[in-house]
Amino acid sequence: MLGSRWSVSSFINGTFCEATGPETVRFNPARPHEPVTSYQQADSSALDSAVRAAVAAAGAWDDLGIIARGRILMRVGSLIRERRELLAEQMTAENGKTIGESELEVDASADTFDYHGASSRGAVGVEYPSSNPDERIFTVRRPLGVVAVITPWNFPLQIPAWKIAPALLYGNCVVWKSASNTPAVSASLMEVMRDAGVPDGVVNLLLGPGPLGSELVSRPEIAGVTFTGSVPVGQHIRTIATSRGAKLQMELGGHNASIVLPDADLKLTATSLVAASVASTGQKCTATRRVILVGGGHEELRNELISRVQELRLGDGCDPSVQIGPVVSREARDEIRAAIDLALSEGGSILAQATVPDSEGYFIPPTILTGPATMTICREEVFGPVFTILTAPTLDDAIDLANSTRFGLTASLFTSDEGAIRQCLKYLEAGLIKVNAPSTGSELHAPFGGLKDSTFAGPREQNNEAAAAFFTVEKTAYVRSAGVSK
Ligand code: NDP
Repeated sequence: MLGSRWSVSSFINGTFCEATGPETVRFNPARPHEPVTSYQQADSSALDSAVRAAVAAAGAWDDLGIIARGRILMRVGSLIRERRELLAEQMTAENGKTIGESELEVDASADTFDYHGASSRGAVGVEYPSSNPDERIFTVRRPLGVVAVITPWNFPLQIPAWKIAPALLYGNCVVWKSASNTPAVSASLMEVMRDAGVPDGVVNLLLGPGPLGSELVSRPEIAGVTFTGSVPVGQHIRTIATSRGAKLQMELGGHNASIVLPDADLKLTATSLVAASVASTGQKCTATRRVILVGGGHEELRNELISRVQELRLGDGCDPSVQIGPVVSREARDEIRAAIDLALSEGGSILAQATVPDSEGYFIPPTILTGPATMTICREEVFGPVFTILTAPTLDDAIDLANSTRFGLTASLFTSDEGAIRQCLKYLEAGLIKVNAPSTGSELHAPFGGLKDSTFAGPREQNNEAAAAFFTVEKTAYVRSAGVSK
């Protein structure tokens, strides 16, 4: 489109190619009249070409060997660092997050490629003793083949990196259906991969609407599917993938609780809770949605949270002094507004709100609510900078309340009481539990994943050994020396 900053396209078999689908334009959520990126949507025939290219490339990519593949991944990491400025600029323009948040994401994505690249020299397989001294028993890992990667817009580089880097390391080829809201970042990652020496067909990008993802998952050539996104779309993908026996990894939504005990450190708790609930404009699956205060005596913390939220500076994320950018789209803004209105009609009230700039951007004020735990907002994920303060008389009650949703992604706890920490580690239904730290954030090498409706049972993400378990099949070999008999 005339006037858009970036004109991009799908990447198939090593080439950015013209698609025949309708033109789509992504506008800047901070300045909704500013066209940022334009592209032609990929259609079924582009999807077919991408899958065929990946199938054709799979044998040679496997034969290259894991150490050579690791070297290429490390070159990807280096090139991401070299192109940090462009990638961060695209991320802020398409997604709305602040430039500081974008830069951190670019750095973490480069680290992810480095980490999996360096893992290429780790041990593969395990050797077991045999009853026969002339026999060796060991496991062998083989790639799945072609893997579908489907990702959301909220971490448009980091989440794809978590998936694509280990998929490639273990010898798979990838067809990636990226999020429609962040096409320039996706295309730039493909440029990086091409320039780093990833061979043609090994990684392919489809820029197209959601249903193209379902079509991809339906293809019989796709041996594994790794998806991050919302629960409804995840459940739809699960039905398609499992019905034909494809391997599946899913990370879905959350409704994360933070439990605060009376002995919690005031400043640490306030800083952590604000960061966990409103950073990235609350558009993190791990964001704190409910703060549960145990017992009495939390007035000082409540007041601290109120003043900190009221002081937050909203605006265009490319201004370095801005702390909170817009939400991703008009639809997202309207859904969050409707969820707050519903909470108010269900007995909730607003404890604090930041000031929204006088601009057309899709701004939602960071908001603290309070009210009955029966409010819809206390059980359904609202993907924005909004959290509810609830109370519980005892820690047992707080744990029950924290566990009362269908989600089980993250949780956090603020206390120095060792007994309380043990109790929470034992009984909180969350895949990641943090003590005296925000419910958000994770180390890229530690296993990450949820429980309950936040996931699909199977190997977790990020950690390289967990990735090996998902992105490969394991065979057990029994090998005897020929001609030696006893
Ligand atoms: P969606 O589920 O709407 O979209 C995720 C991806 O799926 C996008 O690429 C989307 O394409 C695609 N998609 C949409 N419809 C279909 C379909 N019918 N078949 C196949 N693919 C489809 O999620 P959002 O992008 O809105 O992301 C926000 C959600 O992601 C939140 O629920 C959040 O909690 C969750 N999330 C979970 C994380 C975790 O690790 N647990 C991390 C980050 C986010 P398109 O963009 O074209 O619509």
